[in-house]
Amino acid sequence: MLTLPTYQDVTAAAARLQGHAHRTPVWRSRTADERLGASVFFKCENFQRMGAFKFRGAFNALSSFSAAQRQAGVISFSSGNHAQAIALSARLLGIPATILMPLDAPPSKIEATRGYGAEVILFDRYKCDREAMTRELAEQRGLTLIPPYDHTDVIAGQGTAAKELLDEVGALDVLLVPLGGGGLLAGSALAARALSPECQVYGVEPLAGNDGQQSFRSGAIVHIETPHTIADGAQTQHLGQYTFAVIRRDVNDVLTASDAQLVEAMRFFGERMKMLVEPTGCLGFAAACHAGLQLAGKRVGVIISGGNVDLRRFGELLSA
Ligand SMILES: *Cc1c(COP(=O)(O)O)cnc(C)c1O
Repeated sequence: MLTLPTYQDVTAAAARLQGHAHRTPVWRSRTADERLGASVFFKCENFQRMGAFKFRGAFNALSSFSAAQRQAGVISFSSGNHAQAIALSARLLGIPATILMPLDAPPSKIEATRGYGAEVILFDRYKCDREAMTRELAEQRGLTLIPPYDHTDVIAGQGTAAKELLDEVGALDVLLVPLGGGGLLAGSALAARALSPECQVYGVEPLAGNDGQQSFRSGAIVHIETPHTIADGAQTQHLGQYTFAVIRRDVNDVLTASDAQLVEAMRFFGERMKMLVEPTGCLGFAAACHAGLQLAGKRVGVIISGGNVDLRRFGELLSA
């Protein structure tokens, strides 16, 4: 039996993050409210340190290390925000970090990760099994592996964003959360079940990669090929053991959004709210607009999960 994280783990994570993570703002938009006939509360994790909520889970996991683990160091694998989150958290806590990144990861992300002081090892994602490679290195060097989502301290840390949202605005009727491997959704669901028990919690994943929806609805973890979508933070192939168990128990359903709907939401955030939001960060609002939920008259929370998209890419996506 897995020992699943609880809401107490989320509150413990919130205490560890105090003074280290930003308490990100909750923004409103009259245009969004009018369009949906609802009261919409945007939790803006695009303003989190390193530009995404992933700082929360990474910092929480690393601050729970023993003295011996701290001294030996942390290892992880990621092409995106988790790499930077681990690298920054490790630097803040004085822990050496090793990150495996694919050769074809965006150079800006590799640079950012190195810039935080991590040792970056590049690998060919079409030839190597990165998880096996990471485990091997971890064993050889005595490093502690912190995976991007399937870890109780990571899930608990990610849950602190929804906790802050609910603490600030009170109970919600609906909460929409971007879904990749499920760390953010599982943590958010723990917070919502404790602080707003009647709230309907939905995960939202890219239409091209709806393994989470299939898994949720069938009751077993479904594996897919890496999906082709602009939502690069949610190109996961499967949920984790821990994330799936919490999601099955505490989430109401998993919805999807198309790439075109994500671009429309990016444009809305840019033009109307003057915010730079990465495609994956738009999943929640895209579903609010297009997934057919009955939102009229309701209080709706939307987690904007991150803002790391370079401006050239942003421009290309909006002008395509
Ligand atoms: C990682 C990430 C997600 C997905 O989070 P999971 O915990 O893997 O479900 C969503 N949005 C952004 C911006 C991310 O970096």
